[in-house]
This record gives sequence, structure tokens and C-alpha cells, in this order.
Amino acid sequence: MEDHGRTRWPMVVLTTSPFHGHMTPTLQLATTLHAKGFSIAIAHSKLNPPNPSNHPSDFTFLPLSDNLPAIEDSSSFPNFVNTLNNNCKPSFKEHLTRLISEGNKSIVVIYDNVMFFTGVVAVDLNLAAVLFRTSSAAFFPAFLARRQLRQQGRFLEEDFVMQDIVPNHHPLRYKDLPFCKSSIEDWKQHVANFNLQAHPSAVIMNTIKFLEHESLTRIHDHFHVLVFAVGPLHIVTPSPYIGSYQEDTGCISWLDKQPPKSVVYISFGSLATIDAKVLTEMALGLAKSNQRFLWAVRPGLVGGSEWLELLPDGFVEETRERGLIVKWAPQKEVLAHFAVGGFWSHCGWNSCLESISWGVVMICQPFSVDQGVNARYVSYVWKIGLELERVERGEIERMVKRVMVDDEGEQMRVRVNGMKEMVKEAVENRGSSQESLEGLVNFILSY
Ligand code: UDP
Repeated sequence: MEDHGRTRWPMVVLTTSPFHGHMTPTLQLATTLHAKGFSIAIAHSKLNPPNPSNHPSDFTFLPLSDNLPAIEDSSSFPNFVNTLNNNCKPSFKEHLTRLISEGNKSIVVIYDNVMFFTGVVAVDLNLAAVLFRTSSAAFFPAFLARRQLRQQGRFLEEDFVMQDIVPNHHPLRYKDLPFCKSSIEDWKQHVANFNLQAHPSAVIMNTIKFLEHESLTRIHDHFHVLVFAVGPLHIVTPSPYIGSYQEDTGCISWLDKQPPKSVVYISFGSLATIDAKVLTEMALGLAKSNQRFLWAVRPGLVGGSEWLELLPDGFVEETRERGLIVKWAPQKEVLAHFAVGGFWSHCGWNSCLESISWGVVMICQPFSVDQGVNARYVSYVWKIGLELERVERGEIERMVKRVMVDDEGEQMRVRVNGMKEMVKEAVENRGSSQESLEGLVNFILSY
């Protein structure tokens, strides 16, 4: 650890939302800044809190009273976010006021865009408020495009499936735009939430310049502040698993026994849900493909079921020799494993970054939020994956074979391996992500 007489340095207060895919990169960023010498406080909801024992003993944890019993499913995401923000605001303000009164003169707040109120509180208290967006950079202009179309009355329910390119937003199609599956009321709430955000002093992105250069420029042109692309954080600061799900590490010894690049890994992250029909088509398509697989079926993934009871009869027995199902996989280790040749994913941004970092080609099955945008970049721009257009057993069988067996998959593998090398360069000394990180450190020190 670097020691720069840290007591004179600004204290960095990071706020994190209860979502696994947001909390993980925020805690990784905290670890990165701690290693640079800053003292760190983490403000978090009481719902799904981080575990202090996974972090350095000098981290301070600031619990926020959210009064929320559980994370609701993504169909009511904007309402959930609004309540979370309203409920947490008073205790965040109390924590910051106390920290200031204890003599912490310079505090820089780094806030998750979902916890937008924390930026507002920071600005009210005359503190620097740095926005940390844990989604892809491409998501932000897509969100603005969606908002603009809506204001023009041009984005109606039937457009949610439109394949046409959005004017001025090539390569995105209408169907790729964010929140396609939420109601109009939810969307209005989301835009209202967005409009409440403070103007940030700077923006941090968990991405890499070579990957999203154009979108990063668009973010800069929107906010007119410095934008630091410091990702992928799981490579910049490798750290032990810090999530709250119990990882099933036994799957690694199963992977050890499989041939190289022979296994397709399937996971839809921490929030997406599917219905019984989708589960059935996925299982039957996998069975017909005859390929090896490791499937992370999170309890709660399938609405109305405990875990595996809705799988088609005989599926587990029939695929026992070549398939393994777990509740939660050690995903980074899985993607880094020699036996894994493909990743069938919902295209959450962390999953995309992890797949690219380990050179694994993807089958994209996006659900909501930024996943449609990410899937479009993976399949159409970077050409390192295929998008599953229809969740139907025959289509799934073909997709799995195209990625795992056909020449097409091999060509994508060459491209993604090239990107993997570029990621390595970005995180090395003088690489773009390391330089952005140094820029961020100097920016914080300027306070
Ligand atoms: N993950 C994991 N094991 C699993 C499924 C997911 O460790 O079985 C991790 C994955 O490595 C990633 C995160 O959970 O870091 C999911 O984040 P992402 O942004 O991809 O999706 P979200 O959960 O936010 O929808």
C-alpha cells in the first residue's frame, strides 16, 4: 500500500446501492482508492449491506435507513429507486454532517447514479460530488436518446420491438434502447429521478477507452466535466469475492475435468427473472445442442419456483454426464477457466467486462436496463457474440452450436482474444485505465 501521509488527504465517501451489480464495482473502486492512500467510508443501504470483514479494517461503514424489506423485481425498478433515495437521504445527511463536524474538512463523495440523492446532499454541503456509473458508457447516450424520443412523443409501446436504427444513434435499434420492458409510468418516474440528479464534479466509468471511446466523448460533451475510464475494476484491483451470495466453488473441480473450450457457461446475473416456459426452452435447446454446460440457476430466477423443480422431466438425468447446475457460480474464476468456451449471458455490464477480460465469446439474451445496448455492442459492433432473437429450443440449439462448434465461433474467439490483450495493456503502467486512475487521484487531491 502506498503511504502518502494520508491523514492530510481528502476522505473519500463512496455510496453504493443494494444491487449486486452496482455494489461490486463500487467496493472494487473503494479498494483501488484505498490502495492509493485515501481513507475510505462506504455509505450503504441496510438492505443487502456489504460485509465489513471482507474489507480493510480501516474502512468506515455508514448504514443508511432505507426501510425497504427486499429488492423488488426490475419491472418496478424506478419506483423502488425513488423510495430508496427518499428513505436514505436523512441518514446520509446526518453521517456527512457528523464527519464534517469531527474535523474531516475535505470530503469527496463518489456516488452511484442509482443513489442520486447522495450527490444532491454532497453539493448542498459544498462537497465535491463525483458520479460513478457502473453501466456501460454506451448506455448513457442511449438513455438520453430514449428520453428525447419520448419527449417528442415518438417512442410508443409498439416501438419496443422495432428493428430500425435510431437516427443519430447508430448502431442502436429502437428495440435496444433502455427500459423497453417497463411501463410508461415507470419510465416517467425514472426520468423524474434522473432530473433530480446534481451536476457532478467529474464522472467515473467502469470501462476502457479503446472499447467505448465514442460513448465516453458523448458523456463528456453532456456533462462538460472530466470523465475517468478506470475499468475493468475487477482486473485493476483483483480482490477476493465480496458479494453476498454463497459461491459454489465445487464447479471448478468439475470444470478441471472437461476438455478445453468445451463448456458453455450460462448465467443471467443477480436480478433478471424468467418464466417457466423460457426455462423449458432453454433446457431443451441445451439438451438438443449436445454441448457441455455449467448453468447458474439462482434461486428466484424462475418466477414461482424454489429452484429446479420446473425443469423438464428427465433433463437433469439426461444431461448428467455433460452438464452441471449450481445456484451461484464463482463467475470470474469460471470465465477464466480453460474449459469454458462460451458465455450465454443477460449482458449485464459486469458480465460483459468479465467475459471480454477473459476472452470468452457470448450468446446474448438481454432483459432490461442497459442489457439491450450491451448486447448490441457485443454482437454487432465488437462481433464477439451472437444475439438470441427468439427463446425457442431449435434456435437455442443452433446458437449454442454456432458459438461452441462452428467456424463462426472460432472467428469471434480470435477477436475477443485480441480484446483481452488490449484490456491487459490498458491496466498496465501507462495503460489508459491506469492513466485515468492517476488522473482521478490527482482530481480528488485537488480538493
Ligand atoms: N455473478 C457471479 N455468479 C453468478 C452470477 C453472477 O459471481 O452465478 C456475478 C458476476 O461475476 C458479475 C455480477 O454477479 O460480477 C453480475 O453483474 P452484472 O452487471 O453482469 O449483472 P446484474 O446482476 O447487475 O444484472
